[in-house]
Amino acid sequence: MEKLEIHHKYSNGQFKAGDHSECRKEFYMSNYKVCPKCKSQDFTEEHYVANCRWNGDGFGTDVFKCNNCNWYTSFEYDEGGDSEYYYEARWNGWENERDAKEKEKKD
Ligand SMILES: [Zn+2]
Repeated sequence: MEKLEIHHKYSNGQFKAGDHSECRKEFYMSNYKVCPKCKSQDFTEEHYVANCRWNGDGFGTDVFKCNNCNWYTSFEYDEGGDSEYYYEARWNGWENERDAKEKEKKD
């Protein structure tokens, strides 16, 4: 069963939480939906707003927690700029990989 609760919180700056090993990439490739440990799609998302810029763009950290096995990880986001919302995915080259895979499926 798919269920997503989103909690809004405030944090003092951006941060990293939980598992930051290779399996985060698998999680990213599943569009933040499938737990890399137990394959559950039962997640809670915590949305931490670190701050807002003068133009209204916020930035902060989203924490994704698997409700089945308690695996969790975090992604830092930025509403400003022209890069992906979770900019780290672009830095790592994951975004290009994912797009290439999706293109493959369509062809
Ligand atoms: Zn899990």
